[in-house]
Amino acid sequence: MSATASAIACVGVPASYYFVPFGHACRHIYTDDMNLVMFSDSHGARPTIPEGDVLCVAGDVFCGDDLQSLRSDLRWLGSLPHKRKLFVQGNHDLVLKMQSNAEELLAEQGITLLNNNSIDVDGVRFYGVSYGATDIQPCDVLMSHVPPAGVLDKGLYGKALGCPRLLTAVQRLKPRVHLFGHAHESAGHTKIDETDFYNCAERPTSVHIYTGSVAERPIASD
Ligand SMILES: [Zn+2]
Repeated sequence: MSATASAIACVGVPASYYFVPFGHACRHIYTDDMNLVMFSDSHGARPTIPEGDVLCVAGDVFCGDDLQSLRSDLRWLGSLPHKRKLFVQGNHDLVLKMQSNAEELLAEQGITLLNNNSIDVDGVRFYGVSYGATDIQPCDVLMSHVPPAGVLDKGLYGKALGCPRLLTAVQRLKPRVHLFGHAHESAGHTKIDETDFYNCAERPTSVHIYTGSVAERPIASD
């Protein structure tokens, strides 16, 4: 760690928010950090979503029966203030899956569907795994609906819901962040090796990630 970075003081903020994912023991905010906001598994509810730069939605949000409810949920997501919105489908997003123009419907509300592909936002590469898929490409932030096996993946009655092949892929590619949902009972954060894992099911979560060299960054606030 550089002298500049090590001189920055830690501050007390609500522990559930503002994780610093990259090996630092405390939170620092720099002027051009990216604020990542994530949630999943709202199942038609509309939780309060923290403000931020990039909204990552990890599936099971569109759980109505018809196009009208889908459009209503889409408008709600579209009304949120984040400048970029990324979405991966969950197993319950059937009403979206049934639409032949799903990608278009999302795009109308400023939402990008990630379906085994990546997108770069301000130098940060996001890759979204579609539900049931396990192949991932190198990225900074990985989004999937299901957890990797053994990581924040226990569902009801302790049943493991994670995917072993996804775990193998994550261990190989080591994204900086892997966010997912699906296992509602295991929402939270853990860090293994270089990767910060967030299960954001039913728990909208906000984290800061660095987009470049720590040492060169002017501090915005602490
Ligand atoms: Zn699910």
